[in-house]
Amino acid sequence: MILDLHCHSHFSDGALSPEALLQRAIDAKLSLLALTDHDTLSGLQALHDAADGHPIKIIDGTELSVRWKKYDIHILGLNIDRKNHALQALMEQQKESRIQRAQQIGECLLKLGIHDAYTKASKLAGHERVGRPHFAQVLIQEGLVPDMTIAFKRYLGSNKPAFVATAWVLLEDAVAAIVAAGGIAVIAHPLKYNLTRTKLHALITDFKSAGGGGLEVVSGNMTSFQMNEVAGLCHRFDLLASTGSDYHSDDASYISLGQQHALPVNCKPIWHQWNF
Ligand code: MN
Ligand code: MN
Ligand code: MN
Repeated sequence: MILDLHCHSHFSDGALSPEALLQRAIDAKLSLLALTDHDTLSGLQALHDAADGHPIKIIDGTELSVRWKKYDIHILGLNIDRKNHALQALMEQQKESRIQRAQQIGECLLKLGIHDAYTKASKLAGHERVGRPHFAQVLIQEGLVPDMTIAFKRYLGSNKPAFVATAWVLLEDAVAAIVAAGGIAVIAHPLKYNLTRTKLHALITDFKSAGGGGLEVVSGNMTSFQMNEVAGLCHRFDLLASTGSDYHSDDASYISLGQQHALPVNCKPIWHQWNF
């Protein structure tokens, strides 16, 4: 079974429309797809409409930025009710925080002599919910950095001159909202936060007591060592295993939709509990 439970459309920082993503998914013979745009549910209806009549099951999803201690963590909400009012309200709050951060990043860049970065980034994004990758693109276009990685290393990353901490929703509130909307909360790419093993265990413990249900065991392009490490955490904490490409665009992503490695065999696949 080919599936993908983590990808982005142009409703957040992906390049493709939900319709174009769906066509990709059909071409790649996926039977299950979750769209997980950052802090928005806006692309979900269009994806459903596009998938109508095709032999593919769509799972409603999102990827929430949350605060846990001093860290920004990404939590996937999978199989949520996209019409849930509390979840929609939380999205609005996240949107405001994101816009505020983007304006502040623009001001930081202005202090560094880079003019109109927010305007340019929102033009690129096609909306005002600008993310850091959009700013990175502006820096590349202005010839200030050669690529995305250097843009984060020099300007946008943690403790860099244009880094702005965002007032994201707290981990436990995000998990509660996802669960209340009928979904399962999953820690996205658990190894990408550079947490020590002790910290990672503390995160998972807090996540689980908040009602979290799974870990993303396979995300994008990982080594088998990394996948086995997260699979071990699923086992240890009795959590379900999720998988996704984290596809954004052909330029920004190592792999395309559904092309991530298979889950290690000892995992409990999260999609086994969904009826289809
Ligand atoms: Mn992204
Ligand atoms: Mn993420
Ligand atoms: Mn993502």
